[in-house]
Amino acid sequence: MLTGIHFLLTYKCIFECDHCFVYSSPNAEGTFTFEQFSKTLGEAVKIGTIEWIYFEGGEPFLYYPLLLEFVEKASSLGFKVGIVTNAYFATSVDDAERWLKPLVKFNIADLSISDDKLHSGDNITSPASIAIQAAKNLGMNVNSISIDNPEMKSCEIPRKKGEPVVGGDVMFRGRAADKLAGDLPGIKWNEFDECRFEELENPERVHVDSYGNVQICQGISIGNMWQKPLSEIIEEYDAKTHPVVKYILSGGPAQLAEHYHTNHKDTYVDACHLCYETRKQLIGRFPEYLAPKQVYGM
Ligand code: SF4
Repeated sequence: MLTGIHFLLTYKCIFECDHCFVYSSPNAEGTFTFEQFSKTLGEAVKIGTIEWIYFEGGEPFLYYPLLLEFVEKASSLGFKVGIVTNAYFATSVDDAERWLKPLVKFNIADLSISDDKLHSGDNITSPASIAIQAAKNLGMNVNSISIDNPEMKSCEIPRKKGEPVVGGDVMFRGRAADKLAGDLPGIKWNEFDECRFEELENPERVHVDSYGNVQICQGISIGNMWQKPLSEIIEEYDAKTHPVVKYILSGGPAQLAEHYHTNHKDTYVDACHLCYETRKQLIGRFPEYLAPKQVYGM
C-alpha cells in the first residue's frame, strides 16, 4: 500500500556529489512550482492511503519560500512531513536556528540531514553537524544520514525493501554508478537475480518530480502525472505489465539484461550497478518508463 510521496522539490543542489542517485548539481533543472505541488498534493489526498509527504532533492532549502509553503500546505492537510537536506545553509548554530525556526510550528516528523565525509569532506564542524545541533536546540525530530565511503558490499546491507537510504554503503545508481564503481571488486553479473532494495510490486512510496515522473526507483517511472492524474497512475499500476519492472521482479537485473540482450561486463559491484547500466541502454526503447534523463546524467 502506498503511504508516502517524496517530492523531489528540485534536482538543483549546490554540490555535485559522486554518490548522488539523481545526478543533482548546481546546473540541474527541474523545480516544482506551487501550482504543480498543489495539484499533486490534491491527488495525494485522493489516493486516500498517503500518510507521509517528504521533501527532498537536490537540495530543497535552495527554494526556501516554496519549501515553507509546501510544508505548511501538507501539514495543514494532516500529512506527516519529512525533509531531507545537506544543511548547506548552516554557518553557525545561531543562524541555523533562524533557518529552521519557521518550520518548528509545523511539527516536522522527520528532519534528515546528510552528515558524512562524502558531503563535507574532513570538515569536523560540518554544516550538517551545526544544523543537527540547531535542530536539537529547537526540539525538532532530527536524524542524520551517513553514507560510508564506497567499497564493495552494498548488496549485503540488510534493509527493509522500500525504506529510504539513511546510511550504510553507497548504492551504485545514478552518478554513483558512473563515478564510483570504477575498479571496485565485483560479483558475477548473473548472480544479481533479485532486487533487494525497492518494493517494486507494491511500492510503499514513490518519488515524484516536476517533470511529472512517478518513480518507484530512481529512473524507473510508472507514469507521468502531468499526462494522467497521480491517483489513476497508482490505481492502474501493474508491475507485471511494466516492460522493465516485470523482468527485475522475475529474475533481478540479470534477467533484465538477459531478456533485452543488453551488453554487460562480467562483474558488477552490486545489483543496482548492473540494473542502472542495463537500464541506460534501454532508455531509447522505453523513454516513458526510464525517466527522467536527469537521473541518468543526460
Ligand atoms: S536500481 Fe534496480 S536493483 Fe537497485 S533498487 Fe532500483 S530496481 Fe532494485
